[in-house]
Amino acid sequence: MDLPVDEWKSYILQKWSLLPKSIQVTISTAETLNDLFLHSSPLLQPEDEMFLKRLSGGYLVGKDPDASLFYREKGNKKFQEKDYMGATVLYSKGVSHSGSNSTDISLCYANRSAALFHLGQYETCLKDIVRAQTHGYPERLQPKLLLRKAECLVTLGRPQEASQTISDLESNFAAKPALSASQLQILQRTLCRVKVKVQEKENLPEIFPEALTKTFECVDLREENEQIPGASSSVGLHIDPLKGRYLVATKDILPGELLVKEDAFVSVLNPGEVPPRPHGLESKWDLQVTNGDLHCHRCLRHTLAPVPCDGCSYAKYCSRECMQQAWDRYHSVECSLGALLLTLGVFCHVALRSTLLARFEDVGEVIKKLCGEMNNQRICLPESKNQAQILKYDLGGEGGEKDKAVETPIPGCDINGKYERNYSAIFHLLPHAKNHSPEHKFLCAVSVSALCRQLEAAGLQAFTEDLKPTKLKASETPVLCAELNVWGVAMLRHMLQLQCNAQAITTIQQAGSKENLITDTRQVRLATALFPVVSLLNHSCSPNTSMSFIGTIATIRASQLIRRGQEIFHCYGPHESRMGIAERRQKLRSQYFFDCNCPACEREKQSPLSGPGREAFCCHRCRALLQGDDVLSCGGPACTESVSRHLLVSRLQDLQRQVGAAQKRLRNGRLELAIQLLLGCQSDAESFLSAEHRVVGEIEDALAQAYAALGDWEKSATHLQKSLQVVEVHHGPSSVEMGHELFKLAQVFFNG
Ligand SMILES: [Zn+2]
Ligand SMILES: [Zn+2]
Ligand SMILES: [Zn+2]
Ligand SMILES: [Zn+2]
Repeated sequence: MDLPVDEWKSYILQKWSLLPKSIQVTISTAETLNDLFLHSSPLLQPEDEMFLKRLSGGYLVGKDPDASLFYREKGNKKFQEKDYMGATVLYSKGVSHSGSNSTDISLCYANRSAALFHLGQYETCLKDIVRAQTHGYPERLQPKLLLRKAECLVTLGRPQEASQTISDLESNFAAKPALSASQLQILQRTLCRVKVKVQEKENLPEIFPEALTKTFECVDLREENEQIPGASSSVGLHIDPLKGRYLVATKDILPGELLVKEDAFVSVLNPGEVPPRPHGLESKWDLQVTNGDLHCHRCLRHTLAPVPCDGCSYAKYCSRECMQQAWDRYHSVECSLGALLLTLGVFCHVALRSTLLARFEDVGEVIKKLCGEMNNQRICLPESKNQAQILKYDLGGEGGEKDKAVETPIPGCDINGKYERNYSAIFHLLPHAKNHSPEHKFLCAVSVSALCRQLEAAGLQAFTEDLKPTKLKASETPVLCAELNVWGVAMLRHMLQLQCNAQAITTIQQAGSKENLITDTRQVRLATALFPVVSLLNHSCSPNTSMSFIGTIATIRASQLIRRGQEIFHCYGPHESRMGIAERRQKLRSQYFFDCNCPACEREKQSPLSGPGREAFCCHRCRALLQGDDVLSCGGPACTESVSRHLLVSRLQDLQRQVGAAQKRLRNGRLELAIQLLLGCQSDAESFLSAEHRVVGEIEDALAQAYAALGDWEKSATHLQKSLQVVEVHHGPSSVEMGHELFKLAQVFFNG
């Protein structure tokens, strides 16, 4: 997903292996990214581009009016089956394939509004009704839509607007008497029913303390750092020749304190695992639901009712405002390149978008400053010396004489020592060019040049409008490279940076709907982003902070007491509670090029723990863990039980199926039956799974959810606490997952 698709990767690697030795050597030993790019780029031949074009052809990114009808019909089928969530997503797919102001699009919006209505999403339903109307919803179907609108308004407690809608409806009927009587009756009946429902609702406890959730999201830094915008005043920026830049506590920090709150400089929604469509026509339109169907492509917010880009079918947004902003900042360039970007992978996409966003800063200034900095830094940092040289060539020139006076002590900071959250900060992230293999660098360089050629073909004028040499004149640095090469080298730099600096924006995805208080959750990767301030943090396998995301905003909080002078760490992924030391060190070495010496690694090096069988089976007689490969035998004293793995695995699969069935009942509101099934699962699990097994946690969580829905808060809390123990074992006591689980428990206690 991050890198280009496998077919392109292996094609280019083969191309590399067939290159004359001398060229391989030239590329492998290229001193700068500029050289690397200049030597690799011409090797991209027309036949390579043809091959890439064929691969891209597998992605359906344009609009296809036939698909609109196809998805609408599939959606109607789901609607009839009362799978409103499934119907909503399919109608959304229909919307993205329909042309603006077509009957198709208005029908999709109208149908989606019906599904949203059944999901209780009344506000969103109203929006879709308006959308259907503005896109030319057929006159003869209007009464149905107005009926729904009135019902929404009543449910939302907006009686005046509702009665206005009703009178609109009545005049509509008056104009077409054929429609009137029966439908009006239905409306009256519905109104009565809905009014009663509203009264009932008022007496129920508020399940989602909306106000609480809001304050939780809106928390700001208590005192913003003057040197580092987006960070708290409790941290300071330091630099060290060996470990580079890092953050340190400038005072004692209590657990829970917000340390960083930063919006991503750039982010790209991960499309999810969408394989290019096979060459047969059978599965031309897929029915898969991915991140791209449920999240805004700009702000990443979850949405059941996206609006599509007018020019393509893959970019969808939470609102017209987001769509417009995305268009102005980057999508006008990206729109026609969708298939190519999917083929070349997310890193390439982030690289392109970063350079596009840079257009909105004074690029000439940035370059001038960077050139100035490198003159001064040659002395202090081994890593940055290397970087400075790369910069120098990347940007096509020596720093002017007068730049020498500019002193910046820490890369990425301005003259006053202020860290700038801008393109310059992004540019300063290390590409680790020396650590990547020559093949990898070649793949990146060739992929970037393929992208550059497409940009050229698509009319580069618009793309580089803001980077005309006139802008660069101010710096008095001669532009050695053609415009395109400057952009190409910058993108190559970003692609190489991303391996170490890309931050995954994750979200806790809930399997149930929002009304269910307790839901089955898992962390999923939503987007790939660059955060200038978050990037300043070093890694630890047992970090003293935890990170979470709201849309494109990252927040980092202390997860324990951090004493003044201690370094602030976060975890790059390999967390001690998720994997053993060997796996962690291997991951950190291959992806981030360093050997971890964090306290957890030091501790484990001395006494390597054998993991306590988190996914283990246990003996049905004595509950001791079972050990072995094909045949497992009981580890308990005086127990001779043994059993084949095959049998246990098939029992586990069976159990998972049953849990799934119970969860489905739960979602459909058949609570008693769900509980009955889950209790069966629970006792089955006890007979062969360890108490910390993930499935045990799932069962407890589902039971907690069922009891919460019944209003039995005490039982709900008991089960939730058991689920909490499993989450703690799997994700660690200070993980985001744990935080979410505790938040649920707080809500249960609140309600009880
Ligand atoms: Zn949005
Ligand atoms: Zn588009
Ligand atoms: Zn470590
Ligand atoms: Zn036993």
